[in-house]
Amino acid sequence: MLFSHDVVIVGSGLAGLRAALEVAGRLDTAVISKVYPTRSHSGAAQGGIGAALGNEEPDRWEWHMYDTVKGGDYLTDQDAAEVLARDAPRAVYELEHMGVPFNRRADGTIAQRAFGGHTRDYGQAPVKRAAYAADRTGRVILDSLFGQAVSRGIQVYAEWLMLDLIVRDGRVAGLTAYELATGELHVLRAKAVLLATGGFGRLFETSSNCFTNTGDGAAAAYRAGLPLEDLEFIQFHPTGIRGLGVLISEAARGEGGILRNDLGEPFMARYAPTIKDLAPRDVVARAIAAEIRLGRGIGGGDFVHLDITHLGAERIRERLSDISSFVRIYQGLDTTEQPIPVKPTCHYMMGGLPTDLEGRVLDAEGRAVAGLWAAGECACVSVHGANRLGCNSLLDLVVFGRRAGRAMADQVPGEAFGDLPPDPGQATRERIQALKSRTRGERVSDLRAALQKTMMEDCALFRTEAGLERALGIVDDLESRYRRATIDDPSSRYNTDLIEALEMGNLLALARATLVAARTRTESRGAHFREDFPERNDAQWLKHTLVRQGESGPEISYRPVTVTRFQPRARTY
Ligand SMILES: Cc1cc2nc3c(=O)[nH]c(=O)nc-3n(C[C@H](O)[C@H](O)[C@H](O)COP(=O)(O)OP(=O)(O)OC[C@H]3O[C@@H](n4cnc5c(N)ncnc54)[C@H](O)[C@@H]3O)c2cc1C
Repeated sequence: MLFSHDVVIVGSGLAGLRAALEVAGRLDTAVISKVYPTRSHSGAAQGGIGAALGNEEPDRWEWHMYDTVKGGDYLTDQDAAEVLARDAPRAVYELEHMGVPFNRRADGTIAQRAFGGHTRDYGQAPVKRAAYAADRTGRVILDSLFGQAVSRGIQVYAEWLMLDLIVRDGRVAGLTAYELATGELHVLRAKAVLLATGGFGRLFETSSNCFTNTGDGAAAAYRAGLPLEDLEFIQFHPTGIRGLGVLISEAARGEGGILRNDLGEPFMARYAPTIKDLAPRDVVARAIAAEIRLGRGIGGGDFVHLDITHLGAERIRERLSDISSFVRIYQGLDTTEQPIPVKPTCHYMMGGLPTDLEGRVLDAEGRAVAGLWAAGECACVSVHGANRLGCNSLLDLVVFGRRAGRAMADQVPGEAFGDLPPDPGQATRERIQALKSRTRGERVSDLRAALQKTMMEDCALFRTEAGLERALGIVDDLESRYRRATIDDPSSRYNTDLIEALEMGNLLALARATLVAARTRTESRGAHFREDFPERNDAQWLKHTLVRQGESGPEISYRPVTVTRFQPRARTY
């Protein structure tokens, strides 16, 4: 069927919903989402949302901006970091007014806790900057925003999967979407499409991300010939539950938790003498990996301990109850008495669709792409640079989601619908048909497991030219096998077999683009660590990478970094 809306927002996580609330009532708006809105990954966010409210101790937005820039290893665009840090207190109070039940202090003001890389006085000591609701902050914000969306009557197409952008004469005119319940393919025509499809942490074997995080929006834009920015910067969170990757929030260390090696040593003092366990994630994740490499993992194994036993049962129950129940369920351990076995887990994509400060998607020449916007984890403003600080993503979603919504509300009314091609669903239909028509071939799930393993081995915390080359060779092989792969389920209703096969196409494209970007950047910065080029090299590499699908594979170009207040300096903690 053909549907028409002024604005179609793809994704109902916090970025998509926050943008929707700005345009609803002013423009005919629809939100489509692969999962029921409240199941979006934003609902899994645990630890908090950063803002220099100064409720617990003195704080300033300038310190927050500085931490964000330094945390991003100076690849952060500083105009974006300034917007983020300045707007943060307003954004948090706005959420409070929308009904978000933040934890409170005795005087009734919003409580705040410490988080990695957030400091006072430009790096002197940790500061309590994260507003939170126990360890389910994303859950309560997502539920509140969804409640707002329902009360304003925003049209939601739930369990609809965007497959392709429809682009004609350089203008995005709509998209194709697959309805899970019926197997129907729909065309949604729009004056503006906003992509808020989240990250693609499912590219890695060990991941904190939900199963739907397969980068569909980024991949659709990439297929349409648009560039993706800074893909090589992929965050590994230091503390995933060993063997599972399920996240143990940084809030555990924010509340005073300590990482220990096999000797019981609080080893972070060696790697970040000033802020120790509250160093940014890239630093802590590499420190854990270094301890493991030196044979000081627990029992000589590939994990360390996160100890929160000294916080006391009451504090743990009050503020870290969800993570404690994860540990009880998955490891059979009691966090009030036993340390948690942890190792780094893939967590967040710093890169994504390049946008300006109002969420307009930019092409490789830096020009706005007509009809296309992006916000949230799938976008790259770039506010997180080479390494995102904890608590800055939830903030990014509501600050830049709102800005994108506002800008669309201002600009879209003056615009006409773009022309659709004669058969707008053709390319998508052919892709689905090809998968459904093959009767013999390998199963997609096997290919996906091989891809995730390869990315884990060669493109995770430590990278080398040889490893990245090897991974690219495996991706070549997996791509040709994917072209012959088959699915078992021929049905139309809730065909998750087909969905996973379509997602695999996206993961493969993003893997190749990521590997090429990582191979090209011959320096180490933030989350991108090249063992063969261990130093940061500002003279050559203080620039953003753009990668776009060319005739014969990914093509690389660059974009300058915006530096305003803080000149790049050596990064120590
Ligand atoms: C376990 C965990 C804990 C975290 N904790 C914190 C924290 O405490 N603080 C913090 O700042 N950050 C945290 N983060 C990071 C943060 O939660 C995410 O970066 C953020 O929620 C992403 O939000 P989003 O709106 O961009 O997308 P998501 O919330 O990921 O939502 C993506 C949306 O896109 C939709 N979608 C995707 N593909 C398609 C498609 N093809 N068609 C239609 N719809 C599609 C999905 O249905 C979904 O609605 C955490 C992340 C994880 C994984």
